[in-house]
Amino acid sequence: MALNADSSGRFGQFGGRYIPETLMNAVIELDEAYTHFKNDGSFRQELKTLFNEYAGRPSRLYYAEKMTKDLGGAKIYFKREDLNFTGAHKINNVLGQALLAKKMGKTRLIAETGAGQHGVATATAAAYFGMECVVFMGKVDTERQALNVYKMKLLGADVVPVTSGTATLKDAVSEAFREWTNRIADTHYCLGSVMGPHPFPTIVRDFQSVISLEAREQILEAEGRLPDAVLACVGGGSNAIGSFYNFIDDEDVQLIGCEAAGRGIDTFETAATVSTGRLGVFHGMKSLFCQDRFGQIAPVYSISAGLDYPGIGPEHAYLNSIGRAKYVPVTDEEAVQAFEYTSRTEGIIPAIESSHAIAHAVRLAPQMDKDRILIVTISGRGDKDCAAVARYRGADIPLT
Ligand SMILES: *Cc1c(COP(=O)(O)O)cnc(C)c1O
Repeated sequence: MALNADSSGRFGQFGGRYIPETLMNAVIELDEAYTHFKNDGSFRQELKTLFNEYAGRPSRLYYAEKMTKDLGGAKIYFKREDLNFTGAHKINNVLGQALLAKKMGKTRLIAETGAGQHGVATATAAAYFGMECVVFMGKVDTERQALNVYKMKLLGADVVPVTSGTATLKDAVSEAFREWTNRIADTHYCLGSVMGPHPFPTIVRDFQSVISLEAREQILEAEGRLPDAVLACVGGGSNAIGSFYNFIDDEDVQLIGCEAAGRGIDTFETAATVSTGRLGVFHGMKSLFCQDRFGQIAPVYSISAGLDYPGIGPEHAYLNSIGRAKYVPVTDEEAVQAFEYTSRTEGIIPAIESSHAIAHAVRLAPQMDKDRILIVTISGRGDKDCAAVARYRGADIPLT
């Protein structure tokens, strides 16, 4: 059942290619190159070497024994994407796309970024491959994330503040598409999640699926059986689909995406797309989006900048529609509690994004027998979130 997009790039009714004619050639060129290289032995070997030697893969599957004992139910394992170079799963996708772009003869990478994590990862890959790099970032975000702006510049990238719309992530995506339309010949758009027009959701999914490829082997080695559930947080959905992909055919393995509910799904300050969104077309794809009553993209909110996107990748929308995966909302407060609890019990400071998935594991584990197994993907590390969580708790520490 593990599915692939059909020839028009759709997962059921979701996905597709809703783009201007001027972008069609770029997307077709990318599709053809990817179709070729994904089965090319030397491409795969080069990527594997990069993953292992540069990014530090495979990431560990860690038994969170103290948390397990404290919660008194199912065994909890963490898939430690926080241990990757640059501190999150994003490097998997970025190394894959940068290598692909290089093979296509491109010399320039452009990217969008919200909090700056994907921008920093792309700037890192561009430095490694000796490529030019331009990162589009909402002006509001450049002010909130000055340290990441500095890092991108240090790595040799140009950072372009975007002032249109709400001057945040969705506007940065729109601006990156605009730039790509203007300059296709030497430029690859390194998109940051499983979204956008076909083939991006497939490409990003494939590069991130190394997470579940490893986790499946690692849990079989550790426990001699598959987990009962796999949990991951969902912004656009790349770490989640990467965590789910190699378990989709294993129907006894529950797949659970944890969305950012912000201040609650009954408020306007939320980013929980499956819980509150509707079918729509935006950023080149048909999927679920948070919308106002006129069908305009709604402003979204979460304490977690990485989950603050008003849509969800089309493959998730499909998995939700057929009931193969389920999506649950987790509030800021629950995520902050999980952030603090994980730091205290395991000595691991998880990203506030990942803390959304841990929060749901904390709800679930005590209701399950001790011979049950949960795998929670820790998509990134939480150093970047300490100031925001401190602020949430009413303390102001002089960090950016
Ligand atoms: C960007 C980010 C996310 C959200 O992106 P997805 O595409 O949904 O995975 C989650 N966790 C971390 C640590 C991130 O940096």
